[in-house]
Amino acid sequence: MQKILVIENNAEIRESLLLLLEAEGYTVTIAIDGHSGIQLAAEQHPDLIVCATALGDTEGHEVLTQLQQNAELAVLPFILLSDRADPQYLRKSMEMGADDCLIKPFTETELTAAIAARLGKQHAITERYVNILRHTAERLNRLAHYDSLTDLPNHRLLYQRLTQSIQKAIQRNQHVALISVSLDRLRQVNNVMGYLAGDSLLQATAQRLTACLPKSATVARLTGNQFAVLLTAFQDRQAVVAASEEIIDCLSRPFSLPGQEVFVTASIGIALYPEDTQDINVLLRQADAALDWAKQQKSHYYQFYRTDMPVVSSDEIVLETWLRYALERQEFEVYYQPQKQLKSGKITGAEALIRWCHPEKGYISPSQFIPLAEETGLIVPIGEWILRTVCQQTRAWQQEGLPLIRIAVNLSSVQFNQPHLTHMVAQILTETALDPAYLELELTETALMKDTETAICLLKELKDLGLCIAIDDFGTGYSSLSYLKQLPIDMLKIDNCFVRGVTADVKNIAILTAVIQMAHNLQLGVIAEGVETPHELDFLIANNCDVVQGNFVSPPLSKSDMQNLLRSQL
Ligand code: C2E
Ligand code: MG
Ligand code: MG
Repeated sequence: MQKILVIENNAEIRESLLLLLEAEGYTVTIAIDGHSGIQLAAEQHPDLIVCATALGDTEGHEVLTQLQQNAELAVLPFILLSDRADPQYLRKSMEMGADDCLIKPFTETELTAAIAARLGKQHAITERYVNILRHTAERLNRLAHYDSLTDLPNHRLLYQRLTQSIQKAIQRNQHVALISVSLDRLRQVNNVMGYLAGDSLLQATAQRLTACLPKSATVARLTGNQFAVLLTAFQDRQAVVAASEEIIDCLSRPFSLPGQEVFVTASIGIALYPEDTQDINVLLRQADAALDWAKQQKSHYYQFYRTDMPVVSSDEIVLETWLRYALERQEFEVYYQPQKQLKSGKITGAEALIRWCHPEKGYISPSQFIPLAEETGLIVPIGEWILRTVCQQTRAWQQEGLPLIRIAVNLSSVQFNQPHLTHMVAQILTETALDPAYLELELTETALMKDTETAICLLKELKDLGLCIAIDDFGTGYSSLSYLKQLPIDMLKIDNCFVRGVTADVKNIAILTAVIQMAHNLQLGVIAEGVETPHELDFLIANNCDVVQGNFVSPPLSKSDMQNLLRSQL
């Protein structure tokens, strides 16, 4: 039943209004003056207010003004029962927020018609308002759970559905398959044909995937070129194989994009619940691991997850987050491992080695975080920071009059493949005013072997700056001795594993002596890494190794310890 608040000072009119409105089926509340009227409106939230102009304590306009100050009361339909008939007064009332004005005396029908009209309008407004709210909520929900380009569920909705499917599977003893699908050539399409073509390709892919799979499957778009399919309640593994083959088949047909027909290929990785894991997050990572595997094989086919496929662990994800902040939070430090020239017995160089001390986790080894930094591309800014720090430090030591030494900086293959590498190095050398002769860059064989031609050009560019190039971890990569001849390099660093226990290992003796001889034939200097014992050192001296580095000479030193060591050499 609709509630009407009547604010009327005149007892006789009040009484007749009460009788009339109750007879019309409304619930009526009465206020005898303006003050109590405002109070009742606030307490009871009526559907409509009927208010006289003269109220004893105040005026109808004052009640209107008070109601307008409260957002919820301001929207209530308000009918003014006016003692005055002048149009100016009536217009003012409407401007102040009255929805209708009836001039006394009015007939019962005029009043009931005015009330019905206002309530009808209010109902329509409320209805519309509710519809807009519902519509907005739906839109927000869609935005949060669906990909706007393809209209497919996004990662959030996939996760929700995966959770529900697994709960159901537990109750009914069923299986769930998560299939990760990656389009292999989206980037080329974007690059060559433009992003609109890429968008069309993704939309067409979404349609094909949805059409080729059972209705009960969830097809989701996760990231740029990656989709996922959730299969539930299937008979056996063969059903998953069939679905995967269906996906491959439907994506291998040509796509007609605006202006051109293109062929794409897809790679697929599959993880199964409960066979592979019972943990949703692990299941997602296993499907990705299987997908990575499929991509590496370039098989354009599907791969079921196997335990020997590397899965990104949650530890790595945490580490990655930490790593992203480490540079700006200044958690890195450079240590220097002295290198001793055997002929003179002097420290002639040092290798710069990065150290990361995380405020909670403590020391984290470079072999743990450098591969991750390479994978995520963070090695580029980190590497630049190391180079700048090392060049500044070396120059500072020189200015202090300490013995001149050459500092070697490790260059990751990711950095080596960065455009403008030479420019970056040249700029840092200029900035820090370091003579390039005191800088050495260490590269691994693997970094150079990918594309020998380009590598030779790049090395020449770098060498033209006046710095030295060393091949790090020599012997652990392809070790193609013939290509060494073509490379413009200065030093070979023999990996720890050939030096370790060399005197007791016949094979290592043969390798070490051969490498030293060959390097000298090619006019290259030789550094032995990881020298830990006097026997190893003696062997290297006897075989004409040029420089040694390792804990037996000195472990990596902090900046100030390195400085003290240099001072002691004066
Ligand atoms: P690497 O360039 O071959 O560095 C030599 C590694 O051998 C260092 O490990 C060093 O601490 C360790 N080492 C030195 N003497 C001995 C010894 O007598 N015995 C043994 N067992 N080990 C010895 P670290 O510092 O843990 O670094 C590991 C790898 O991480 C480095 O191998 C290098 O590949 C990478 N790395 C370290 N710092 C940087 C950096 O600033 N940039 C880049 N890109 N990579 C770096
Ligand atoms: Mg090194
Ligand atoms: Mg090394």
